[in-house]
Amino acid sequence: MSNYQFNIKEIIDEINKINAQKVGLQFPEGLKIHAISVARQIEEETGVTVFISGDPCFGACDVADVTMKNMVDLLVHFGHTPLPLQYEVPVLFMDTQFKLDPYPAIEEALDMLKDYKTIGLVTTTQHLHLINELIVLLEKNGKKVLIKEGDGTRKAQVLGCNFSAIENLPVDVYLFVGSGNFHPLGIKLSTGKPVIIADPYRNEARNIDKFADRILRIRFARITKAREAKRFGIVVSSKKGQQRMELAVHLKKMIQKMGKEAYIIFLDHVSPDILIPYRELDAFIITACPRIAIDDAQMYKKPIITPDELLIVLDQKKWDEYKLDEIRYND
Ligand code: SF4
Repeated sequence: MSNYQFNIKEIIDEINKINAQKVGLQFPEGLKIHAISVARQIEEETGVTVFISGDPCFGACDVADVTMKNMVDLLVHFGHTPLPLQYEVPVLFMDTQFKLDPYPAIEEALDMLKDYKTIGLVTTTQHLHLINELIVLLEKNGKKVLIKEGDGTRKAQVLGCNFSAIENLPVDVYLFVGSGNFHPLGIKLSTGKPVIIADPYRNEARNIDKFADRILRIRFARITKAREAKRFGIVVSSKKGQQRMELAVHLKKMIQKMGKEAYIIFLDHVSPDILIPYRELDAFIITACPRIAIDDAQMYKKPIITPDELLIVLDQKKWDEYKLDEIRYND
């Protein structure tokens, strides 16, 4: 049984409304196991032909509108909320709500929150529908809860590359409701404040401190190694929500001014294999998804760093001023 709720009726209503005949479906990696059953239901109930996007997808930064242009009348993108971008085909964004009960994990988290008064509540798309009831529960337990909208995100929502919804919140601690360390790590690195995770997938609460320390040590080692580099590759993604070509050109000039070489590499999906042929380069700056350098660093032989980390490599910024790289839309 799936832990996720798919609103097939809303998709069928949209298909009928615009009289779509060909429909694209795009799922993030964690939801692809449901692709066939969703496609079957849509085809059986509407008679449309469905095309499933089989390429990797990790965020709303990577909607398949360009690849499916001239192929579909409607593209349904699951699991993410829209970013402020222009799309080549009509796109229906379908939130997928996580169905498991988060309250046992919240109860545990409350114990860890006992010394804190003001809490910043944070989550991801799958749990956004719970925010109002979570606020009520926390307030009943004597907490003051602060949330706000972000740049391209909803109230209390963060993405792996966008923490604007918690930026400068005057809170003592952040409570993240969701799974894994990916988002809590980002909250910790972008705010420097304590982060407690209430994880409904594992029915537990924990803090992110040890994990964040380990990642920071790895970052320090990569930055130190990148200082030896004479030739840099600056990786730019063609994915619409990740493309930062202007920034890449700016970094290239900055590196050249320091008497080093830099080359821009434009590609779709960043992976260790795709960078192997560039043997002459000593280090790579990733202007694509900011989390590649942070979360996948161990998979790459040469140092991969973020644009902000380059500033430390070039002595334009101190290690104490370390900041998580983010993609903002209204800067
Ligand atoms: S750029 Fe990376 S972190 Fe941001 S939405 Fe895309 S996949 Fe997620």
